Amino acid sequence: MNIIGHFINGQIDTQSARTQAVYNPSTGAETGHVALASAATVEQAIKIASEAFPSWRDTPLIKRVRIMFRFKQLLEENSEKICQLIGQEHGKIAHDAMGELQRGIENVEYACAATEFLKGEFSKNVGPDIDSWSEFQALGVVAGITPFNFPVMVPLWMFPMALVCGNCFILKPSERDPSSTLFIAELLKQAGLPDGVFALINGDKEAVDTLLHDPRIQAVSFVGSTPIAEYIYATATANGKRCQALGGAKNHAIVMPDADLDNVVNSLLGAAFGSSGERCMALSVAVAIGDDVADQLIAKISTEMQKLKYGAYSDQNNDFGPLISSAHQAKVVAHIDSAEQQGAKIVVDGRHAKVKGYEQGFFVGPTLIDAVRADMSSYQQEIFGPVLQIIRVESMQAAMQLINEHEYGNGTCIYTRDGEAARYFSTHIQVGMVGINIPLPVPVSYHSFGGWKRSLFGDLSAYGPDGARFYTRRKTITQRWPAADVREKTQFAMPTLN
Ligand code: NAD
Repeated sequence: MNIIGHFINGQIDTQSARTQAVYNPSTGAETGHVALASAATVEQAIKIASEAFPSWRDTPLIKRVRIMFRFKQLLEENSEKICQLIGQEHGKIAHDAMGELQRGIENVEYACAATEFLKGEFSKNVGPDIDSWSEFQALGVVAGITPFNFPVMVPLWMFPMALVCGNCFILKPSERDPSSTLFIAELLKQAGLPDGVFALINGDKEAVDTLLHDPRIQAVSFVGSTPIAEYIYATATANGKRCQALGGAKNHAIVMPDADLDNVVNSLLGAAFGSSGERCMALSVAVAIGDDVADQLIAKISTEMQKLKYGAYSDQNNDFGPLISSAHQAKVVAHIDSAEQQGAKIVVDGRHAKVKGYEQGFFVGPTLIDAVRADMSSYQQEIFGPVLQIIRVESMQAAMQLINEHEYGNGTCIYTRDGEAARYFSTHIQVGMVGINIPLPVPVSYHSFGGWKRSLFGDLSAYGPDGARFYTRRKTITQRWPAADVREKTQFAMPTLN
């Protein structure tokens, strides 16, 4: 049996009392078993990382950065293999996997700029002969827990930054598609990272709970669904840990009457159905201003949807692949059923998708639903499938109210040619990442990524400048070296320069 193990102390470890099946979602076939770490295995990795920490923290920054430069090169040299592994277990088509990897590599590139962003702050003569500076120190051993939908990119949001900042890192990736993540962990060793500084633990709740409760773990980054994000944030912070927990989403696009509908259709198709809708930034709701816009949009997009190709990850001609599991496929179908039962109109129906030669694959075809209302469960909950819902409203204000009242606030977009409307929208909308004629406004690596409301728990966003702050602790030092013959007077008032 193919056992997908852990990576601890620079070695693959496949010993495990418990395992879980891993599938190829394109064929529906079981391809291996992933080891599920016991608490003892996780504790062992934490012990090794704690011992590795002092010397890694004290390694000159430029040496830590050089390892990241080599790691970036290895990711590029091994890109085809990485995308193949993503495709096999996630189902993503190679061109989409390559996009994921490239976005991840950009986070490694940003981490390589640590000699700039970890310089700290210095002020000379803040008082007579007194200088003051702030430095950003490593936290210790930190952990990351990541979702199935970006098995390479989301881990790369976390550990390159944490490592260059001088921390040791324990990664707990998704148990549903672990092989690509395990492979990049091995590349870290090839890049020269000392054993013990980084560990990858495969597992489920037992492994996560061990990380959340162990006092040696200083900080936890989480990306996944909102109910789990809430649990992670509450537990980690109750145990005194720094935590950022990114959750789910419901991303709306407002289509204004002045928008160029052909462009809107082209960009909505990719943003709604790319990666089978399994993206936290997928655009899953189009809010049309007025019935004319809605009718035209539906006519154009439903025609274009007939041309979409979906199927096995290995066929580069496909636009998107299967869903992650048969359970998730059933959940997506149940959402479409519920929309229909609650009075919405299924314009294009992907529920009975069949792909020739891949009859057991976990496919749902592209689905378009009209006449969706805010009280429907398919609107309130995240579907995470290739389903685009249309809501009709009378005004931009009504559209914004709808978005602002939704419990999620990850991403949103407005399609318009009116600069005033776009500016008003970006200023007042209660969402963390906003696109103006951009359907997937995923910030580049030198900005930071994070939603509002129940899409992010914690004060800092992921990666970029916020990532550097999350993985370090500020220390501010004020110093004076008085001359040997200078005697200071006792001063009881709060020191000032007045
Ligand atoms: P998930 O919440 O099921 O799993 C995420 C991680 O949590 C996995 O490592 C999993 O093993 C672990 N986990 C699951 N159940 C747990 C439990 N009961 N206790 C402790 N740990 C547990 O999420 P998923 O299905 O893998 O990923 C999809 C979700 O992630 C979607 O909701 C999507 O919107 C979200 N997501 C958000 C972002 C973002 O940046 N906001 C990015 C990617 C994905």
